[in-house]
Amino acid sequence: MPPYAFFRKQFMPLAEAKIGILTHALHYGTACFEGIRGNWNDEQEQLFLFRVKDHYERMHKGCRILKIKLPHSVDELCQLTVKVVEKSGYHEDVYIRPMAYKSAEAIGVRLHNLEDDFFIIVATLPAYLDIDKGVRCCTSSWRRVDDTMIPARGKITGIYVNSALAKTEANELGFDEAILLNHDGHVSEGSGENIFFVLEGKLVTPPSSDNILMGVTRDTVMQLARNELGIETVEMSVDRTELYLADEVFFTGTAAHITPILEIDHRPIGNGDIGKVTKELQRLYFEVIKGKNSKYLHWCTPAYSKLAKTRHG
Ligand code: PMP
Repeated sequence: MPPYAFFRKQFMPLAEAKIGILTHALHYGTACFEGIRGNWNDEQEQLFLFRVKDHYERMHKGCRILKIKLPHSVDELCQLTVKVVEKSGYHEDVYIRPMAYKSAEAIGVRLHNLEDDFFIIVATLPAYLDIDKGVRCCTSSWRRVDDTMIPARGKITGIYVNSALAKTEANELGFDEAILLNHDGHVSEGSGENIFFVLEGKLVTPPSSDNILMGVTRDTVMQLARNELGIETVEMSVDRTELYLADEVFFTGTAAHITPILEIDHRPIGNGDIGKVTKELQRLYFEVIKGKNSKYLHWCTPAYSKLAKTRHG
């Protein structure tokens, strides 16, 4: 069973889904995408898609910003996603990439009077950051795009040039990931992750007004911390040096899960090990995303109605 895509309103093997080189989104970054995880549960032989509805609600908002007409409701998008995953037949963790884009094969930078299209692909994703050992970060010399430049609330492809500049700079300097400040000098987020820190037992994370992407994992962590650990999260602007002095710092994201940050700008965070709160949140989070915690099953959509016959991986 080859991996499948939903492309031009039909399901087809991923290898057959191609776009033309004049496609508007390729030239101008005029697309809106999502990253959704399917998490494999071995005991139940089931793939659970995590908070798929919330991802598509964010995509609908992004499409309004980019004037992209999404021809499907959130519920329809969820159903299409389940079908693509089911057809692909993976029995391991998967990463789902839906994209709504300006599909017109037309030169000319604008958002209006252009055709749109939508696709979904399913893939596996190699480990993104080291969630077990933790990562070393630097403060990026690149600043996070401002809402007055490209709306940070949308997961817009063009924004990711900003992320790519920061990530490559960090890697070339020998760090695992970058932390971007916004234009005011406040901490915004990682190149593809939100950021949290623990200070005197409280969780702190930058607010939406600091040009973060409102992460689904960010919201998950805030709910788990409140409901399961009795820890409230304070959303407030954070200065660079506040991170240096935090007891624990971690990233959250669909790709990054919960990734402990052990060092920033050559300064160890806390005692340099993975912190207690981070560890506890990781434990809870993995239980929840794999459909192993009955209290949060409403976040998990099973992909298989019956056992898929062919196995990948
Ligand atoms: N910020 C950016 C820039 C991202 O690309 C992502 C990944 N989607 C996140 C934060 C985390 O968002 P989420 O938890 O919804 O994956």
